[in-house]
Amino acid sequence: MRLLDLKKDYHVHCNYNDHSSRELSIENVTRIAEKINLNTLAFTEHVRKTSDWIPKYLEEIDRIVSSGTKMTIISGFEAKILNDGTVDFPSEYEGYFLIASFHTKFYNKQNWLSALKSAISLQHVKVIGHLAPEESFELTEDELIELSTLLKENEKTVEINAKYRRPPMKWLRIFKENHVNLHLGSDAHRITEIGNFNSITNLIEFINN
Ligand SMILES: [Zn+2]
Ligand SMILES: [Zn+2]
Repeated sequence: MRLLDLKKDYHVHCNYNDHSSRELSIENVTRIAEKINLNTLAFTEHVRKTSDWIPKYLEEIDRIVSSGTKMTIISGFEAKILNDGTVDFPSEYEGYFLIASFHTKFYNKQNWLSALKSAISLQHVKVIGHLAPEESFELTEDELIELSTLLKENEKTVEINAKYRRPPMKWLRIFKENHVNLHLGSDAHRITEIGNFNSITNLIEFINN
């Protein structure tokens, strides 16, 4: 089992969406991440098939990378898992680091589970973001074990998310027992949240000890 590295933040937003803090420019985020000694920073802005700002966003990240930083900077995206099990993501950017997350409720366990399994099987998805059941349902231990197998077969990582404090401990226990790959994401929407995993100390200790 690989330990969680608190110097790597794989889920950070910036000001290319309409709901993050304006101060979250790519330059500011990079500067703060360096200041708090992160060694890996993934920009994972919310994207849709219709997003028109992607070339500018990628260019801006490239410019920061080529201006010289000791950090590993990853250009990536976060996209929504749709009812049909695809993700709302423009296919021309397949190959970039991609987090697939549930951003709307399904209110139906079977539909939710089948969309999740389908998203896990997509080659261009690298990570499943802030994974947790909806209030109206829970997965059984057997279902979580099956999910673990699928995640491993498809070489997907499950993110431990500081904003939503997910996945739940019960799920993490099964993921840990079944050697699912895990990493940390702050899901920062403000400067102070970058690389900040204080809200999930218990989950981190559970995995690392
Ligand atoms: Zn999200
Ligand atoms: Zn996010």
